[in-house]
Amino acid sequence: MKRILLLTTGGTIASRQTAEGLAPGLSGDGLLHYLGGLPDSYDLTVRDILHLDSSNIQPEEWQLIARHVYEAREGFDGIVISHGTDTMAYTASVLSFMLQGIGIPVVLTGAQLPIDHPLTDGLDNLRTAFAMASSGHPGVFLAFDRKVMLGCRAVKTHTTNFKAFTSVNWPLVGAVSGAGLTVDEGALCPSGLPCELRDKLCRDVFLIKLTPGLDPRIFDMLLDMDYRGIVIEAFGAGGLHFIRRNLIEKLRKAARMGISVVVCSQCLYESSDFSIYQTGQKALAEGVIRGFDMTTEAAVTKLMWVLGQTGDPEQVRALFEQNLVGERSE
Ligand code: ASP
Repeated sequence: MKRILLLTTGGTIASRQTAEGLAPGLSGDGLLHYLGGLPDSYDLTVRDILHLDSSNIQPEEWQLIARHVYEAREGFDGIVISHGTDTMAYTASVLSFMLQGIGIPVVLTGAQLPIDHPLTDGLDNLRTAFAMASSGHPGVFLAFDRKVMLGCRAVKTHTTNFKAFTSVNWPLVGAVSGAGLTVDEGALCPSGLPCELRDKLCRDVFLIKLTPGLDPRIFDMLLDMDYRGIVIEAFGAGGLHFIRRNLIEKLRKAARMGISVVVCSQCLYESSDFSIYQTGQKALAEGVIRGFDMTTEAAVTKLMWVLGQTGDPEQVRALFEQNLVGERSE
């Protein structure tokens, strides 16, 4: 029997109706109670580490979760983390960076309806997560709607549909069918690093989604606030406005101050390429870091993680532009 650890953090899956709306209330044992016979298939251990709606999960909680996973890694064949769906893609991405080289499967899951709801999707999601956690394939994954994806490629794309997550710019790692859980080994991205807990993060990272005519002075404000990293979701394949309101000169100012600026696209699918248009090339000339086809969740958490490892802007660029865990296509 595979030894599986269930770490619970809250989320809808464990929520109950309160006077103020849904809020986490069920423990891990409570979740397992609804799963009925499943626990007999695994040697299960449960640890309740947080009881939070995932809107309240922040970098401090990411570090706590990473430490629990790291410390438990040698005693288990796999780890399942139950988590709210709203920020699960951020947690899955950041854990992918903090736990590079983890030798076992670590699988996040949750639900769109509480586990005690008669129509809950939580039972299927937990079953898929347990199957992936016992698959022997190392890495950080997200299991939902009978599918498994790389944690660093997952994006929450639906608010209520059971297919809440999409694997963006990367094939699914696994899917459940009549044949059980089938894993596509070509979609796995094991890290070449030995496992070490790399949990230092820099919280001073800001995400800007450009809108036509955005006032460039927003950058002055961010620089005054001591942000150390900025991720820009630019237009299309890669463009920023520079007539009338010149964003490019603000990139120059950020570079002079040693602030790392990552540029990616507002488009969910395919890669950004800032070399195509003049409006992109001008940004590249100011030394911005390219986000390629990374999800916004991966770009933001990777920049937080990279800035936690080094303060040297050239090292930040070199580390950020490497594909570490499958977060960007080669
Ligand atoms: N608000 C909930 C959360 O993220 C939503 C969910 O779990 O589906 O914790």
